Amino acid sequence: MEFVTYVGLGSNLGDRELNLLRAIAEIGKIPESRITALSGFYDTEPVGPVPQDPFLNAVLRLETGLTPHQLLTELQHIENTIFQRKRTISQGPRTIDLDLLMYDSLVMDSETLTIPHPRLHDRRFVLVPLAEISPDQTHPLFGKTAAELLRDLPPGERVTKI
Ligand code: ADP
Ligand code: MG
Repeated sequence: MEFVTYVGLGSNLGDRELNLLRAIAEIGKIPESRITALSGFYDTEPVGPVPQDPFLNAVLRLETGLTPHQLLTELQHIENTIFQRKRTISQGPRTIDLDLLMYDSLVMDSETLTIPHPRLHDRRFVLVPLAEISPDQTHPLFGKTAAELLRDLPPGERVTKI
C-alpha cells in the first residue's frame, strides 16, 4: 500500500446507484490495494458532445502497491468483465466508467494512460467529490489543491449530492 491513488466512478445507464455500489465492491477486491476514503454519490449533468441522461458520480481513494498500468488493467477488467461494458459511442452512455484520476504525485503520458487524468481539473463532477474526501490533495501539474481547483472553476454543470 505504498501509493495513494484516486479513482473516479460514473454511471448513467441502468440502476446507477447499484452500479456504483457493485463497482466499489469489486475495487475493494483488487490485490495489494485498500479503499481508504469514499465520497458521497452525486447526481450530475452530463458534459460533452453527446446528449444523454444524468450521471451518478463518486470518487474513492485507493492505496495500492500496484503500478499505474496494473491498476488500470484491474479497473478495465471490472468495466469489461463485470459490467460487460461495450465501447460503442465515445463519451456516450455507460453502465460504469472508472478513471484513474491521480497516482501519488506521478505525472505520465503513455499510449494507454495519462496521469493525472487530463480533464480532472476542469470537471466539477470530479472535483466536488474529490474535494469532499481530500480537499488538500495537490494536483501535481498545477500545484493547486482539489479545494483550490474547485474554487477557481467557473460556474458549470449541476452537481447535486444525493
Ligand atoms: P471515455 O473517455 O469515454 O471515458 P473510455 O473510458 O473508454 O472513454 O477510455 C478510453 C481510454 O482512455 C482507455 O482505453 C484508456 O486506455 C485511456 N486512458 C488514458 N488515461 C486514463 C486514465 N487516467 N484513466 C482511465 N483511462 C485512461
Ligand atoms: Mg473512462
